[in-house]
Amino acid sequence: MSLSLHEITKRFGDVVALDNLSLDVRRGEFFTLLGPSGCGKSTTLKIIAGFYKPDRGKIYIDEELVNNVPPYERNLGYVFQNYALFPHMSVFENVAYGLKAKKLPRDEIRRRVKEALELVGLEGFEDRRPDQLSGGQQQRVALARAIVINPKILLLDEPLSNLDAKLRLYMRTELKKIQRELKITAIYVTHDQDEARTLSDRIAVMKSGKIEQVGSPHEIFYNPRTRYVADFVGFSNFIESIVKDIKRDRVVIDLLGRPTEIMSDNEEFKLGEKVIVTIRPEFVKILTGGEAATDSLYVFEGIVEGKNYIGSVVRYQIRIGNTVIMADHIETPRTAIEIGRRVKIGFEKEMLRILKG
Ligand code: ATP
Repeated sequence: MSLSLHEITKRFGDVVALDNLSLDVRRGEFFTLLGPSGCGKSTTLKIIAGFYKPDRGKIYIDEELVNNVPPYERNLGYVFQNYALFPHMSVFENVAYGLKAKKLPRDEIRRRVKEALELVGLEGFEDRRPDQLSGGQQQRVALARAIVINPKILLLDEPLSNLDAKLRLYMRTELKKIQRELKITAIYVTHDQDEARTLSDRIAVMKSGKIEQVGSPHEIFYNPRTRYVADFVGFSNFIESIVKDIKRDRVVIDLLGRPTEIMSDNEEFKLGEKVIVTIRPEFVKILTGGEAATDSLYVFEGIVEGKNYIGSVVRYQIRIGNTVIMADHIETPRTAIEIGRRVKIGFEKEMLRILKG
C-alpha cells in the first residue's frame, strides 16, 4: 500500500516535533527515515500508526484519508526497538494475539502463526516464553507478530538497535529478505546511516521536524544537496570557496589555491557566489609513491597531522595550508604513514561535490 503525509505539523507543548512535513511512500517500497536523535522520526511513525493525532495535516493510506481511523483499524504492523512482547505469553500466543483479536477460526490462526514463524526462521519455538529467547530471536517474534496480520504497511522503529553488532548485520539481511518476499511496504526509522544505506529503496533525511532530502541511497550518499545531509552521511571534508567561472554543467572554483572544475548539474550557481566543496574521505587518495600517474585526480601536497582507526580503515588528517583534509587509507604494516611526513594526496575529480555556501 502507498502512504502519503500532507503538511503534517505536530507540537508537544513548545516543541515543534514535525513542522509542515510532507512525504510520499510508494507501494512495496522500503522507505527509511534517517536523522539524528530528536529530529522527529518516531513521531512521524506514530502519526502514521495513529498513536498520535497531528495538529495539522492529512494522512492517506492508499489514497484513503485515515486521520480519523483509530490505530487498530488502520491494519498496520509495528515493530519497536524494545520488542514489546507480552512476557507471560508463549511465542505462539504472542504471534497469534492480533489474529485472536480479529476472532479468526482456530485452524486459520494455527496455520498463519506457523507460516509467520517459518518466515522468520523460528519454527519449533512456539512454546517458549520471551525470557527463554535471545534478543535476536525476540525481535524475530516481534516481526512475526507484526506481519502475521497481513498489514498494509510495516512500521519499524529502530528494530535492530538493541542487538549486538554481529546479530544486527545478520538481522538486516534477514529483514530485507522477508520484506522482498512479502513485497510489503516498509517504513523504517534509524539514525544509522549504514543501515539506511543497505536496506532502503529510498531514504528521507530529517532535520528538526522537516525533511531535508529524499532520494535513493546512491543520491543521498553521493549527491547530498545540503551540507547537513552531506555531514550526516559521512562527507567529512568541507572547503569554503567562491565561484570563479561558470561552464555548461560545471563551475570553476578555487580549490586550495588552484582553479578547479566541478560538476554542478544539480544546482544553479552564480558568479562570485560562496560555495562549499566537499568530498568523502574514501575518495581522497594518499599517494605514497609508486602509483601510476592518472588524470582522474587533483593532486595536492600536505603534511600528515594525525590519524584515527575507523573500523578497517585509517582516517588520516592532512594539513594543506590552513585546511585539514581527511583521507581514508587501508593500512598494512608496509603502507603505514608516520605523522609529520609530507605526502601527496589526490582528490578523485568525479567525486568532488559543490554545495551552496
Ligand atoms: P530518537 O532517535 O531519539 O528516538 P526521533 O527522531 O525519533 O529521536 P522523536 O521521538 O520523534 O525524535 O521526537 C521529536 C521531538 O519531539 C523531540 O524534541 C522530543 O523530545 C519531542 N517529543 C517526542 N515525543 C514527545 C512526547 N510524547 N511529549 C513531549 N515531547 C515529545
